[in-house]
This record gives sequence, structure tokens and C-alpha cells, in this order.
Amino acid sequence: MSTALALLTFGPDGAADGHRLVDPEVPQLHVTELAATRGDGVFETVGLLDGRPLKLARHLARFAESARMLDLPAQDPSVWSAALHAVAALVGPGDAYVKLVLSRGIEGGDTPTGWAFATPHPPFDDVHRDGLRVVLLDRGYRHDVAQTSPWLLQGAKTLSYAINRAVYREAARRGADDVIFVSSDGYLLEGPTSTLVLRRGQSLVTPRADLGILAGTTQAEVFEWAAGEGYACSAELLTPDDLAAADAAWLVSSVRLAAPVSAVDGTPKPVDADLTTAINAHLRALAG
Ligand code: PLP
Repeated sequence: MSTALALLTFGPDGAADGHRLVDPEVPQLHVTELAATRGDGVFETVGLLDGRPLKLARHLARFAESARMLDLPAQDPSVWSAALHAVAALVGPGDAYVKLVLSRGIEGGDTPTGWAFATPHPPFDDVHRDGLRVVLLDRGYRHDVAQTSPWLLQGAKTLSYAINRAVYREAARRGADDVIFVSSDGYLLEGPTSTLVLRRGQSLVTPRADLGILAGTTQAEVFEWAAGEGYACSAELLTPDDLAAADAAWLVSSVRLAAPVSAVDGTPKPVDADLTTAINAHLRALAG
């Protein structure tokens, strides 16, 4: 099977209590579903290798945190994990991902909607070898927006990703492949679907997670591994000058894994092929 789909079922408290497998070719959502009409919900994308998830516990913890930030009903992670494994088992060997989606439900209703689907994706060997040409784009928010305006939900993995898609079109217009957001007061933030990691000698650094950015599960995993390999790992306030001065940079994420940055706003950046290979070997070995 190529894509597999499970719909979650919900109890009266709004927590999922089970799932049922359904035909992914058949439309399943109501037209007033708030995921579709408002992007009002949260999601996770979990990498799969041969049907086995990568760093699932980190994803389930972040899913719960995103739901909490949107005042959605608390969920039992084991129910979502069971749905994930059910669709993962059907997707077949190779590289794939599972998306877990929890929305506020149908307009005017009081029950969330949730589903999990697994689908294959092609390998990213070219990107891992050649890297990404990135452009820096102003996100328009100060670096302290998560503290001053928590209602903007910066740092939650919400379904409202139109901006995160629009910036890829802007990158393409500028002859680039990807984007690094910068705060309105000049600090490096994150990619539209990835976390920034810089190497300075034997140190790895990433932007601080309190800058209104998503706490990346891949970055957390890479730092834990790299610390054991002798790298000093830290989260800091970083500027575009830090990026220019870094020995190497990556955009890391759950499906594409560690993608080296090969140019920033048209200026070439060296690709660290050895560390890219080592990081991605570690990430793929996590499948369990
Ligand atoms: N930042 C944003 C905005 C994202 O959407 C993502 C993933 O999609 C990430 C960072 C990377 O997170 P992860 O490594 O958990 O996939």
C-alpha cells in the first residue's frame, strides 16, 4: 500500500480513545472541519524507516505541548502511538513519514478531529550531498515575541502553515531552495520546516528555543548524540554574522534529516560532508 490512513475516535472528554483504519482514497473530513477552514489544530511529522518511527517519544511530547498551547483537550500518547504504528505497518519498506493531526473539530461541535496517515517519500541523497541554497527572510516578529505575545502561538506546531509554504515560493523567486527566518531585530530563528544548526570548530550551536521557534526534535537528538562524540553543544542568540562566520551550517528536520547549507543569500558556504554523513547515519539508526 502507498498511503495508509487511520481516523482517531474520541471519548466525551475530547481525548482520543482508539482508531480505525479507513480507505485513504475516500474523502473523510466534513466541509466545516476547522483544520480545513481555519488551520485550527496541531500536527507532528514523524520520520519512518522500513515502517519503524524515528524518535517517537520526542514527537509525542511535542504534540502534547502544541495541544496544550492551543487549549485542545489533553491526549493519551499511547492511543496516538497505536494509530501511528498501525499506519506505519501498512506503508511498506523504505523512507516514509507519518503525520499526526489533531484539530478542534467541526465548526460548532465539541469533539476534536484526529487522524494519522503514513506515506512514502523519495530519498534526499542529492540534498545531503549538494546542500541547500538558503535566503534569509525577515519573519517580522521580535526575538522575544513568544514572551510578549503568547497568543501568536509562536513555537507551537499548528496547522497554519500558509506562511511556511509562501516563503518557499519567495526562496524560488530568489533562486534559492530554502529559507532561514530572521527576527525583526536581527536574530537567526529557524527554517520554515527545520531547525538551524551551526558548527564552530568542535562546537554545535542552535538558536535558543525561547525565540518563538519550534523546539526541533531532530536538533535535540543531534545535540545529544554530538555531545557524546565530543562536541560542545549550546543554544544561543545568533545573528547572520554568526552564520557567515560558522564553519558549516545545516537545516535539520525529521524527514529530510540533516541538510547542509551550501550558500546564504548567494554567498557559498562550505559543506561538511563527513559530519553530514555521520549525523544522518545516527538519525537513521534510531528507527525502532
Ligand atoms: N521548525 C519548524 C517551523 C518546523 O515545521 C519543523 C518541522 O517540521 C522543525 C523546525 C523541525 O522539527 P523536527 O526536527 O522535530 O522535525
